[in-house]
Amino acid sequence: MIESNGRHLLDSRIKNVVIVGGGTAGWMTATALARTMGHQLNIRLVESDAIGIVGVGEATIPAIRLFNAMAEIDEDEFLRETKASFKLGIEFQNWGKLGDRYMHAFGQFGQSLGLLEFYQFWLRARQEGVAKPFGQYSLTEVAAQAGKFARLSHIPNTALEGITYAFHFDAGLYAKFLRSIAEGIGVVRTEGIINSVERRGEDGFVQSVALESGEVIEGELFIDCSGFRGLLIGQSLGVGNDNWSHWLPCDRAIAVPCENGPKLRPFTQSIAHQAGWQWRIPLQHRTGNGHVFCSEFMSEDEATDILLRNLEGKPLADPRVIRFTTGMRERAWEKNVVALGLASGFLEPLESTSIHLIQNGIAKLMSMFPDKSFNPALMDEYNRKVAFEYERIRDFIILHYHANQRDDSPFWTRCREMAIPETLKTKIDIFKATGKIYRDQEELFVEIGWFQVMTGQNIVPDTYHPMADAISHQELKYFMSDIETIVARTASGLPSHEDYIASRCTPAPVAA
Ligand SMILES: Cc1cc2nc3c(=O)[nH]c(=O)nc-3n(C[C@H](O)[C@H](O)[C@H](O)COP(=O)(O)OP(=O)(O)OC[C@H]3O[C@@H](n4cnc5c(N)ncnc54)[C@H](O)[C@@H]3O)c2cc1C
Repeated sequence: MIESNGRHLLDSRIKNVVIVGGGTAGWMTATALARTMGHQLNIRLVESDAIGIVGVGEATIPAIRLFNAMAEIDEDEFLRETKASFKLGIEFQNWGKLGDRYMHAFGQFGQSLGLLEFYQFWLRARQEGVAKPFGQYSLTEVAAQAGKFARLSHIPNTALEGITYAFHFDAGLYAKFLRSIAEGIGVVRTEGIINSVERRGEDGFVQSVALESGEVIEGELFIDCSGFRGLLIGQSLGVGNDNWSHWLPCDRAIAVPCENGPKLRPFTQSIAHQAGWQWRIPLQHRTGNGHVFCSEFMSEDEATDILLRNLEGKPLADPRVIRFTTGMRERAWEKNVVALGLASGFLEPLESTSIHLIQNGIAKLMSMFPDKSFNPALMDEYNRKVAFEYERIRDFIILHYHANQRDDSPFWTRCREMAIPETLKTKIDIFKATGKIYRDQEELFVEIGWFQVMTGQNIVPDTYHPMADAISHQELKYFMSDIETIVARTASGLPSHEDYIASRCTPAPVAA
């Protein structure tokens, strides 16, 4: 009895996983599954050199470090292999009004007192005329602005946080780097174009994929990482997309790399133009640039021209156009196919969230790993969690567009006047009225992230939480100025971003 139950358990386990696609999504998935479940899975990955990868997607958020740690990647080796730089946040220019500039820096600011977050004390200090700009209470932001960096988890002898960081990296090199790890731990790669997908008669589950070469690859679980085309989830299983372009109308990006400018900034720049915005992502060997725009308000030629006029160095390739529709799959997991990466949806890279969504999808899939019965309740729960996360990030991105005061182009007027999701409207209304950011526990962006963007876009409440009155004006003044002084003094002792990278990227001399 025990034996037959045991056998039943083993028989129901998934053994053969097929990953379709070898971009960032495909190789992240392959590496993660091989590291954690390689002992029981045969993992095959199919990718086509002729089709290639999207090749953008180079700015991340700090959670990427958890992924790298799980994959047992040495950070300095990663820096060398992917020509990465450190990222401490994103600087937004021209988003509220033309000429405005603010930063969404990672990590915590200042120090909470009792139960109350620091930003509430800052709101009070601002009213009482003793507040410096919010960024001056964060070592991460002050270091970013000064072009400095070191790994420092907290400021010594204080309760203040040190530097919270993510990376900018070369997407092609990252996929290559992950591939070398994944293949080293058993993932089998097949190169070629998949030209048909075979489904089971009785339930429509995907059974195998066939390549142009005639090879057929069978599996029990298929991960669709085929990019925008969604080869399995969309083309074969017919799962459609929720279209969010009425809220996020940008539908094109022009991308071009260029030579680096004089300084290697440890942050991404996002510069708003007349009908969209431009990214600058500095890497060790080049800067990645792109102009995301709305084709209803601007032609591709005009957008290309604006981008080329705003490069900081000589272009290193011809500009290329990427077309997209913002939205997400109605279901990211359907039958025995789980879509990750661009196959599961697209949100423009304003807050560098797509790679994080891949990482999170992988983490959820691992924790909810199915057996051959593909329990429908499990799949529903996965889809609910993925949708929740997409929708809250969507709201955060809409906030940047909606809370603008620009009067120089019809695009910005449209964004300001458009109806927004109720979830976002509620957040803005509560903040305006009470100075408090409310968020659900599972949301990606923390209160301080929302706070920086709301105030950066000139939504500043006239009030603050009454608990901030628990200290006297004098105490508040000293509290604020102590933090500012400690942060400034610590930042002044840090090495430059360039020097720090150079010290980590020079391989140790080989012993004779
Ligand atoms: C303009 C733009 C800017 C972005 N910037 C950022 C950013 O700064 N930060 C961030 O986190 N994300 C960003 N992203 C998103 C990020 O690029 C993607 O999430 C990431 O690259 C993952 O892509 P992917 O692996 O899903 O798809 P792709 O890179 O397109 O890979 C698809 C894979 O599927 C394979 N394939 C497809 N069809 C077949 C077939 N028939 N047979 C065999 N193989 C096939 C291809 O060969 C390829 O290997 C950006 C996206 C865009 C469009």
